[in-house]
Amino acid sequence: MYDYDDQNIFARILRGEIPSKTVLETEHTLVFEDIRPQAPVHLLVIPKGAYVAYDQFAAEASDAEILDFNRVLARVCAQTGVSGEAAGFRMISNAGAHGVQEVPHMHVHLLGGRPLGRMLE
Ligand code: 5GP
Repeated sequence: MYDYDDQNIFARILRGEIPSKTVLETEHTLVFEDIRPQAPVHLLVIPKGAYVAYDQFAAEASDAEILDFNRVLARVCAQTGVSGEAAGFRMISNAGAHGVQEVPHMHVHLLGGRPLGRMLE
């Protein structure tokens, strides 16, 4: 269903061919700053494995990769101060053409640092 293009920008960031501002890195996961931030906190959380979209990651990644991804996400929430009811954040994962996914390597946007407004009515 998914055909991974290893020339996509995030694959190149993972190989160190393109610079990025790393916030946190573990064995399975990388977090870096979005180049066009939409909020004071706008990070991209990506698995190091070759997954195109969130559903492929959820279906095919190992338990260790999925656990690490989620723990890293929690750690960057705490690290950037977006955790807790008084602050807060939004996670978005665009997938495929209808989701208007620009970079075909699975990623979760983590947005926060200001009131984000309602997205869904
Ligand atoms: P998508 O629409 O695929 O969910 O979002 C891709 C995101 O990647 C966009 O928010 C865009 O600003 C970001 N992005 C695209 N190219 C680069 C890059 O070379 N470096 C970084 N750090 N972010 C990028």
